[in-house]
Amino acid sequence: MLIVQKYGGSSVGSVERIRSCAARVLATQRAGHDVVVVVSAMAGETNRLIGLANQLAALERPTQEPGRASSSPYVASERAGDRAHERELDQLVCTGENVSAALLAMALQNAGGAAISLVGPQIGMYTDGIYTNARITGVEHGRLRQALAGGRVVVCAGFQGVGPDGNITTLGRGGSDTSAVALAAALKADVCEILTDVDGVYTTDPRIEPRARKIPRITYEEMLELASLGAKVLQIRSVEFAMKYNVPVHVRSSLNDSEGTWIMSEQRNLESAVVTGVALDRNEAKVTLTNVPDVPGTVAAIFGQLARAGIIVDMIIQNASRGGSTDVTFTVPESDLRNAVVELGRLGLPESGPMEILSDPEICKISIVGVGMRTHAGVAALAFEILGRENINIQMVSTSEIKVSVVVHDRYGELALRALHAGFGLDLEIEAAV
Ligand code: ASP
Ligand code: MG
Repeated sequence: MLIVQKYGGSSVGSVERIRSCAARVLATQRAGHDVVVVVSAMAGETNRLIGLANQLAALERPTQEPGRASSSPYVASERAGDRAHERELDQLVCTGENVSAALLAMALQNAGGAAISLVGPQIGMYTDGIYTNARITGVEHGRLRQALAGGRVVVCAGFQGVGPDGNITTLGRGGSDTSAVALAAALKADVCEILTDVDGVYTTDPRIEPRARKIPRITYEEMLELASLGAKVLQIRSVEFAMKYNVPVHVRSSLNDSEGTWIMSEQRNLESAVVTGVALDRNEAKVTLTNVPDVPGTVAAIFGQLARAGIIVDMIIQNASRGGSTDVTFTVPESDLRNAVVELGRLGLPESGPMEILSDPEICKISIVGVGMRTHAGVAALAFEILGRENINIQMVSTSEIKVSVVVHDRYGELALRALHAGFGLDLEIEAAV
């Protein structure tokens, strides 16, 4: 088999840990597999490098007004869009991964293995050239293949690729996961293993529900819907990539040999539960517009205004009209709430009555997700019943083929999460201590 193994920052966080990674890689190779390794920077290193750049910027511009929002994950906002600066930033931050790759290759050699490390241009990892947030466009893996054919382990620096003009570009925070999946796709690897400091993806956030269980198998679609559960474990873009190219991904601990969570297509995952996971999103806020004129084009004007302001709207509900006007309720990220209200105030809709803008930041969204919903009726009804039993009022509902989301008061978010987790049979059986 051809296996791509990606080691995260904590797994390569010290030279001792790098030695353990080397041992694991060699064991995999000795078991008869070809191994391509992708590494992150040592834990904390990317932050340290970004910190240096920001310190320098602060020295040069001591009295900066708070600037516009940056689209870049690493640039202080006043330098956003400054391409010369962003180019150097990418030159800087990619070095974290280069260090890990060289050290791991050395550790492999010290342990008697044959290994070579490669950085972005040597891998042939090509991107669209957008600094600090590039997308992978292709992999030319001739050199990599050659090294593999020569019996070597190839250790690739993650998080980076070359743009069309030959400059280094990085892939956004957590981007080594996407490097690994892209390599696995290009090489048609049998599996992309994401080795990390947690042992898989859980049915919900174990900090809120200690009875959360490790999910053995999850589909790409479910993982994308449960992004908030997986986000800490792997870059969501890597899941989109894996889905597009049908790469089986195995998220597991680098500290032991236990099976973790397999992320795969629905066709391969035949034993899916009705509900796979429950996610809580606290960062949403609700806006209600009352007395909205019920004429064509109004809703377009409302959401057009928000879209032009760059505000991403999640759930939307429009009520049945009574007497020529209607109510529209929707949710936005909490950080965009003030801005949304300001934008709506500018709308100047034709009046059919006094339109009011009501906003409420004290809400949260809970989602239950599972591909099994496609074939099981009554999942939403059961969810409502569970919440009703807990006396939790449901403010909004939206459903898709594999998801039911409800908005409730912030205060009930964790209770609702636990109730749904238990109600859909996801709780771990904890043996009562006798
Ligand atoms: N080192 C980069 C980061 O910290 C990329 C990665 O670890 O995947 O975001
Ligand atoms: Mg990571």
